[in-house]
Amino acid sequence: MIKDLFSEKKQLLSFEVFPPKKEDEFANAISVLDSLAGLQPDFISVTYGAGGSKSKKTVEIASYIQNQLHIRALAHMTCVGSRKEDIDAVTAQLREAHVNHVLALRGDRPSYMSDEQFEGRHFSHASDLIHYLGTNTDLHIAGACYPEKHYEAGDMESDLIHLKEKCEAGAEFLITQLFFDNDAFYRFLEKAGKSGIQIPVCAGIMPITSAKQLGTTVSLSGSAVPKQLADIIATYGDDPADMRKAGIDYAIKQILDLKAHHADGIHIYTMNKPKVAQEIAAAIR
Ligand code: FAD
Repeated sequence: MIKDLFSEKKQLLSFEVFPPKKEDEFANAISVLDSLAGLQPDFISVTYGAGGSKSKKTVEIASYIQNQLHIRALAHMTCVGSRKEDIDAVTAQLREAHVNHVLALRGDRPSYMSDEQFEGRHFSHASDLIHYLGTNTDLHIAGACYPEKHYEAGDMESDLIHLKEKCEAGAEFLITQLFFDNDAFYRFLEKAGKSGIQIPVCAGIMPITSAKQLGTTVSLSGSAVPKQLADIIATYGDDPADMRKAGIDYAIKQILDLKAHHADGIHIYTMNKPKVAQEIAAAIR
């Protein structure tokens, strides 16, 4: 079980991958996974579409990780567009594939969802999904958290109240939204601890290898960009090779600092780029 590793090891290293969008990209996804497996991560997580329609691909990839690579697979699962029957169907597929860890998420509102559909959704929040899975399955459950608060939350205090509800519902550990400012993460950990959140937290790090990627990432995550990273983009943004190196160096520095501060785990958003993960793993181990 992943939760036991936190007391057995100094620090966990994990990766996040996304499933192939098209059937003919499956072979490439497998080769990405084979390369990542060589880095011996403690677990690999697999993302899931907010609407749930592509859940089969998440299960297939998670199954490969768990059963062929013999690495713990953490399958993401969102509930914003799901009924209980849909969740039951996915959990049955996971059980069949011997995947027993899930990152239970609400998910972002899909663009096709009307106000009425969103307001009337079957699972209002991730904590409802965690409670449902905890009551109806044997799955081990993780939850998401946000060092710079979730974009819908009015303030950090209310976000932490809801985060505590996820822990009370049965989340065994947390993975953060990506962040570029470690101080924001340390402040968050302190506040979470004071709010009574005691479960391990894996720090989500995304290596930025191009200026374009930073733009997309920031608009999706809302993460703040510290001056040092903004300066890197200004200096190297037009030179792909230098930008890639400077972006990887920034992520390595972030991780070394997190290690020095005894973070429970480092979760690398690999963007399915195994070479980047290899360079980082070599530098931080
Ligand atoms: P929740 O925990 O439900 O929180 C969402 C908002 O609701 C927050 O503002 C919270 O404060 C508020 N809230 C919670 N409970 C209550 C309550 N009882 N009353 C009032 N307000 C409440 N998305 C995907 O589609 N697929 C993925 O694979 C995926 N992977 C992710 C992995 C990680 C590590 C992270 C951090 C995010 C991931 N996301 C993914 C994005 C995520 O789905 C979105 O951030 C989504 O908007 C919130 O999901 P959540 O599970 O954090 O929701």
